[in-house]
Amino acid sequence: RLKQHTLMVSPSWRLDVWDPVSDQAFVTLATNDVYCQGALVLGQSLRNQRLTRKLVVLITPHVSSLLRVVLSRVFDEVIEVNLIDSADYIHLAFLNRPELGVTLTKLHCWTLTRYSKCVFLDADTLVLSNIDELFERGEFSAAPDPGWPDCFNSGVFVFQPSLETHGLLLQHATDHGSFDGADQGLLNSFFSSWSTADIHKHLPFIYNLSSNTAYTYSPAFKQFGSSAKVVHFLGSRKPWNYKYNPQTGSVLEEGSELVTQHQASFLKVWWGIYHGSILPLYESIRDEQEHA
Ligand code: UDP
Ligand code: MN
Repeated sequence: RLKQHTLMVSPSWRLDVWDPVSDQAFVTLATNDVYCQGALVLGQSLRNQRLTRKLVVLITPHVSSLLRVVLSRVFDEVIEVNLIDSADYIHLAFLNRPELGVTLTKLHCWTLTRYSKCVFLDADTLVLSNIDELFERGEFSAAPDPGWPDCFNSGVFVFQPSLETHGLLLQHATDHGSFDGADQGLLNSFFSSWSTADIHKHLPFIYNLSSNTAYTYSPAFKQFGSSAKVVHFLGSRKPWNYKYNPQTGSVLEEGSELVTQHQASFLKVWWGIYHGSILPLYESIRDEQEHA
């Protein structure tokens, strides 16, 4: 869908100009100020890779006004979604199953119908190279989960916004809940033919490389790890839980937890962006507010 214009400047010299595609978007979610740090680094990592799509972040009312301002400097759209304001059946599902709160919030991405196709990325992912080719995939495309490869991991997926699909997903949540209490279980039972129906909907693992799972296939990591395009810091320890030394550029471990070599290098990239691009944003916003 990328429109390519060719300027014929001289017969021997061709200049290609790429138009941004305004009806497709990268989408993430942050329900609190902590996850906003992840969303900011993710958004900046996408901007660093010749961004050609819109950048959208979904937030909830808990996100502070300062973070909304910071987010608006990185994202094209900061959209507040509020479950309580939603239709009755969503409200009911939310009340009966409070653990589905974040899950139902993630499903709001299907309501972004001004976009014809989107790529959702968890706020704990980091983009290392241009991933525009994901927009050539259809709904519902995702990469296998490292813990159970017949299921997809819901940290990175291609979807097509549709109020009808959104309604069906909410209905499914109300009727069946989620087998893991989160969005991944719900989405896997809704898109249950993913593992068998169409191999094009299996994204390569390099689009959702989990950096910190207990089991890794080390020789494969050696062979393919350097082609990673999206890193996913899944699990309970997130990049923002580590400490960073800006002088040495090293990420400090806390406690006795083991950080592998490749994990450490991805954490360094995350912190490099946070320190180099996100913290200065806070400073400039503070300066602007002081001089206002
Ligand atoms: N999330 C959020 N607030 C939370 C928990 C999760 O905004 O309190 C969003 C965020 O985008 C996050 C995604 O939901 O990346 C999925 O949660 P998480 O990444 O923590 O799960 P994991 O990938 O570790 O299973
Ligand atoms: Mn995640």
